Formats: sequence, C-alpha cells, structure tokens
Amino acid sequence: MSMTEETIFTKIINGDIPSDKVYEDDECICIRDITPQAPTHLLVIPRKPIPRLVDASDEDKALLGHLMLKVGDIAREAGVGDGFRVIINNGANAGQTVFHLHLHILAGKTFSEGMV
Ligand code: 5GP
Repeated sequence: MSMTEETIFTKIINGDIPSDKVYEDDECICIRDITPQAPTHLLVIPRKPIPRLVDASDEDKALLGHLMLKVGDIAREAGVGDGFRVIINNGANAGQTVFHLHLHILAGKTFSEGMV
C-alpha cells in the first residue's frame, strides 16, 4: 500500500469498519488492538492521517501534545496508570504496518528492563 492511500485506521475513524472504541474526541480516537500483544493493548490514533511520526511537522505540535496527554488519561482510566509502555513504530523497518500514525499503549504483563 502506498503511504497516501486510505488506511484501515481512516476506515475505522470514518465508521466504515467496526472497532472496539474506548475513547474519542475531536482530535483522536482510541481503540483496542485487534491482535493484542499484552492484556491491555490500546491504539491512540489522530484523526489526521499523518503516515509516520517523521511526517509530522511543526503544525502538528499541539496535536502531538494532545495525543501524549490522552495516552496518560486513557491509561489511568483503563486502570494501568502505574505501569504501561507507549510505542510508536516509525517505518516498515521498525515494524510499522499501518501508515497512519498511532501510539500503542501496552500494559498488564511483565516487561523486560530493556527496550526490546
Ligand atoms: P504497527 O505495526 O503499524 O505499529 O501497528 C498496527 C497495529 O494495528 C497492529 O498492532 C495491529 O494488530 C493493529 N490493527 C491492524 N488492523 C486492525 C484493525 O482492523 N482493527 C484494530 N483494532 N487493530 C488493527
């Protein structure tokens, strides 16, 4: 898929594909990952289809801040505020498969001390 085609997340945001939504506002949605890698695995997705983190620009500064603050709120609300990881895969070489920026919230398992 080219990075300019509509992604599955745009289809979810538009309601064309169902999802298990846990939060939404004017700027973003949060859904449960369909293939969870941890007991809690949420995706925070901006409505704006920025393909990768490196494609964000200065005009996205407030949006990126909003997403980061929502991650904290959503994690707290999900009862995992004391222990969760936030992951952004940037680019296919880092394992990104959906080219619409999203932040993974992972919690409920024991993580290794390292990053990988
Ligand atoms: P990435 O590898 O791009 O960082 O993460 C994409 C994530 O989206 C994966 O964890 C994958 O399981 C999830 N995903 C892909 N398609 C769907 C879908 O249709 N619905 C939901 N809820 N998650 C999806």
